[in-house]
Amino acid sequence: MLFNPYDDFESAPWPLVVKLKPDELLTSWITRLSYSHLLKVHTFCNVNFRGVQVWNRDFDRCVPDSVLKILSQKTLTPVERVKESTLVSYETYLFDHCRTHTNTEWIMPLQIAHRVRKRCALLYCPKCLKADKAEPYYRRKWRLSLSVVCPRCKCYLHEKCHACSSPVNFHRIELGRREQIPYFPLTTCYKCLSDLRTAPVVRAPAALLKMQEKLYQFLDSGYCSEYQCQYSHLFFSALRQIVKLLCSKVAVFERLNRGVCEEMGIEFTPSVGGFASNFDMLSLAERTLILKKAMWLLDDWPSRFIRLTRASKVWSANLLKDFEDAPYWFWKEVKFNNHLVYSEWKKQLAGYPKHSSYNNLILARMARKNK
Ligand SMILES: [Zn+2]
Ligand SMILES: [Zn+2]
Repeated sequence: MLFNPYDDFESAPWPLVVKLKPDELLTSWITRLSYSHLLKVHTFCNVNFRGVQVWNRDFDRCVPDSVLKILSQKTLTPVERVKESTLVSYETYLFDHCRTHTNTEWIMPLQIAHRVRKRCALLYCPKCLKADKAEPYYRRKWRLSLSVVCPRCKCYLHEKCHACSSPVNFHRIELGRREQIPYFPLTTCYKCLSDLRTAPVVRAPAALLKMQEKLYQFLDSGYCSEYQCQYSHLFFSALRQIVKLLCSKVAVFERLNRGVCEEMGIEFTPSVGGFASNFDMLSLAERTLILKKAMWLLDDWPSRFIRLTRASKVWSANLLKDFEDAPYWFWKEVKFNNHLVYSEWKKQLAGYPKHSSYNNLILARMARKNK
């Protein structure tokens, strides 16, 4: 029998070797794979991942196992390594569970309409992209709302095209060029064709770089050496709660926010409130400010936090509201130090000593009224 090279075509590896880069995002790798085989991304995905919708959803967050398996087989990469390029792999590092049908905390939502990403939910560092030389690629961390600066290049990240302010849509560069093979690098803006590698480099302050390094160190290792919390996701869960409170328009949290701003010597800006004040939807500048405040509040844990929250009359009921799974390291300080002692009512209402609790007093008064 003659040897037929197409016999094993379905499972045979792709002819060109394109390895995953360190911390590369899955969709960035898929795009590089398709371009290296001189195929447009949509054709590449249609041929290889038959029936799977890739670009009309957040594929880095909800990729099916079947696609991970194909990528692993076709590139001779261990499936665990392929999985590492997804945002799901942040489970137990950044959050408990990565949700696929709704937003997940710390992951910036893309807001996709007709395969176009409408929101600036993928950041980039022009210096890192330039340093990648012939193979620029997008990092997984650039999808996270806690990323604001690049510790490696010591500069601010960018959230949109520096020339036309469009969000990054590297999978749309080839669009409208039906007869051409893809030849634009991934760093090209899909709208104005500017090269994102030429975006201005803005140096970040040392304190901000230190803060980012600390967050990344917790995230990469899965451990947290401070705050007596041991595992990184337990730290990020409390940080998330503080960030949420600092984004709130509720009077009690605005009071705390004002107190923090006063001590930090920065101007207080009230929150717009509602859906638009969700931390993951804020601009890079807004997120930088909130993160700085939250991390400052956690410094010298728990002294500064207790002092500021108590001075602003923020009690445990406020701090633990809608926070059922509060990690113990945070919960215990809040419960011990921010618990409002309700027996104070006895001093305030000295004429009602026979009632064992404030609740009983209210019930007794209501019963008397209804007589
Ligand atoms: Zn960089
Ligand atoms: Zn542009």
